[in-house]
Amino acid sequence: MEKVAIYPGSFDPLTYGHIDIVERALEIFDKVILAIAVNAEKRPLFSVRERLEMAKAIFKDTPNVIVDSFKGLLVDYVAKTNAKALLRGLRATSDFEYEFHMASMNRSLNPHLDTLFMMTSKDYFFVSSRTIKEVARLGGAVEGLVPDLVAQQLKKKFKIPLGKKNQIGWEV
Ligand code: ADP
Repeated sequence: MEKVAIYPGSFDPLTYGHIDIVERALEIFDKVILAIAVNAEKRPLFSVRERLEMAKAIFKDTPNVIVDSFKGLLVDYVAKTNAKALLRGLRATSDFEYEFHMASMNRSLNPHLDTLFMMTSKDYFFVSSRTIKEVARLGGAVEGLVPDLVAQQLKKKFKIPLGKKNQIGWEV
């Protein structure tokens, strides 16, 4: 039987930290569903449609990654798929408490659903969507930490002219 994992998150925007987790998970699972959460409480920079389009473009050559979005309870979304596990990434001990609560709550809602955690890689432990947005907003270089498509879309959002900054974000 096909082994499927669901990787849920905001992905606002997708970073190489997320992509690294997906690529490593594909060594274990046959298929990974990257599920973009539509969360009314968060005010995302990118709309769900923009996040879906970017993620689909980034994984267009990886057929065993399915990009989707979901509204409402994650366990209800999981029930509509044949996934057996949730996938989450851990960067620092500060991630642990939140992740522990979410995994425990999801397990309480569906006792058959386990969450598997993958440790961040040494290259991306400091990468989060939040800091990427902050750096990009201030005109810093995020290339190498996010796919080029994401870096371009960030520049567009923050109206930063393409190619006008050097590696440390200074005008050149
Ligand atoms: P959420 O709002 O659900 O936390 P995110 O898009 O911020 O969504 O993160 C989705 C998942 O990816 C989380 O489990 C988060 O810990 C993990 N993650 C984010 N950045 C990294 C990274 N650089 N390395 C490993 N895991 C990461």
